Amino acid sequence: MRIAIPKETHPGENRVPIIPDHAKKLCRLGATVTVEAGIGAGSGFSDAEYEDAGASVSSHREELFGSADILLRLRKPELDEIKMMQRGCIHISYLDPFNEHELIRGFQAQGVTAISMEMIPRTTRSQKMDALSSQANLAGYVMVMQAATYLPRIFPMMMTPAGTLKPANVFVIGAGVAGLQAIATAKRLGAKVTAFDTRPVVAEQVQSLGAKFLEIDLGETGETAGGYARELTAEQVEIQRQAQKELIAKSDVVITTAQVFGRKPPVLVTKDMIEGMAPGSVIVDMAAETGGNVEGSVPNEVAEWSGVTIIGKGNLAGEVARDASQMYSSNLFNLVEDNWHEEQNIFAVDFDDDILPGCIITHAGDVVNETIKNILEGGA
Ligand code: NAD
Repeated sequence: MRIAIPKETHPGENRVPIIPDHAKKLCRLGATVTVEAGIGAGSGFSDAEYEDAGASVSSHREELFGSADILLRLRKPELDEIKMMQRGCIHISYLDPFNEHELIRGFQAQGVTAISMEMIPRTTRSQKMDALSSQANLAGYVMVMQAATYLPRIFPMMMTPAGTLKPANVFVIGAGVAGLQAIATAKRLGAKVTAFDTRPVVAEQVQSLGAKFLEIDLGETGETAGGYARELTAEQVEIQRQAQKELIAKSDVVITTAQVFGRKPPVLVTKDMIEGMAPGSVIVDMAAETGGNVEGSVPNEVAEWSGVTIIGKGNLAGEVARDASQMYSSNLFNLVEDNWHEEQNIFAVDFDDDILPGCIITHAGDVVNETIKNILEGGA
C-alpha cells in the first residue's frame, strides 16, 4: 500500500504526522512511504532523515494526494484536497467531525474512508493510539510554562536573606488529561495548587499529585460510560461559578481545561470574577479556540481585562512541536500497525475490530458513524 504524508499547511503548525523513526517502521510493515519535501522543517526533521528511513520525498503535492492508498495527517484536509483523493483511499487525521459537516459530506461523496483521531474509543487497549491524550498531556505542561512566563512572580517559595517569597497560588479548573499534567507541572515548580472537576472520581487523582481538591456540591454530575463529563445544567454552572469565586480572587494563576465532549465548553470564569483578581495575575484558557471557559479570552491571543493577563493561545501542543510530533506519530503508527494485515500487506478496514469502527466516520460512500450520522441528518 502506498502511504503518503503531505506537509501540514495550517499557519503556525510545526508538528508532523509521522517522524522518520515511524516512517521506517511503516516501511518495515511493507508499505511504500512518500513524504512531501520539507515536511519536518518546523520540528527539526530533515528530508534526508526520511530518506534514510526508507521513504521517498516528493515535491508534487497533488500527485501525492492522488496516488495514495492511505494519507496520514495531523489536521483536517481542505475540501479541495479531498477531491484529489482516489476512491477507497483511507484518510487518517483529526477531523472535528461534530462540527465539520461539509468535510464529512466531501469524504462521503469521494468514497474515502475517513478516520477521526479524536473518535478513537478511550479504552485501555487503545491508549497507545490516543492522540487526544498525548497532545493534551503536552498542552497541560505548556499552559503552566505560559503562565509562568507572563506572571510577574515566581512559582516556588523562596527563603533568602532578602526576604521570603510566598509560593504562587494556582487553581486548575478541569482535571482531565491536560488539567492533571498542569497540576503536576505547577507542583514541580513549587506552586500551591488547588483543582476542581465535576467528575467526583478525579478528586483522588488530584490529591495524589499533592494538590488540594475544591469540594463543590453540584448534586448529580457523574460521567458517561466513556469516562467523559456530563454537561451541567445552567443552575449547576451557576453554583460552580459562585463556589469558585473566592478561590479565583486569591489565585495568581487560573488554568481552565473544562470540556464536555462534543459540546461547547462551559463559561466558568466571568468578568466579575476576573475583576476580583489581583492585577498581574494570569489566566490560561485552554478552550479559547472552541468558545472559551473564560469571558474575555480571545482565540490565539494574549488579552487583558482589569489588569489580568488572559492567554487564549491555541495549538498548545504545537508549542513543543518536536515532542508533540513524536507522540502523535507514535499514536498514528500504532493505529496503522494494529490494523495491518500482514499476509495481504494492507490496512484492513475491519468493522468487527474493537477499536476501529468507533473512529471511522465515512466508508464506501456512506457516513458509518452513528453519532455523526444523526448530527448530520438532524442538522443538515
Ligand atoms: P476532556 O478534555 O473532555 O475534559 C477535560 C476535563 O474537564 C474533564 O476532566 C471533565 O470532567 C472536566 N469538566 C467538564 N466540565 C467541567 C466543569 N464544569 N468544571 C470543571 N471541570 C469540568 O477530558 P479528557 O482530559 O480528554 O479526559 C476525559 C476522561 O477520559 C478522563 O477521565 C480520562 O482519565 C479518561 N481517559 C481514559 C483513557 C483510557 O482509559 N484509555 C484515555 C484518556 C482519557
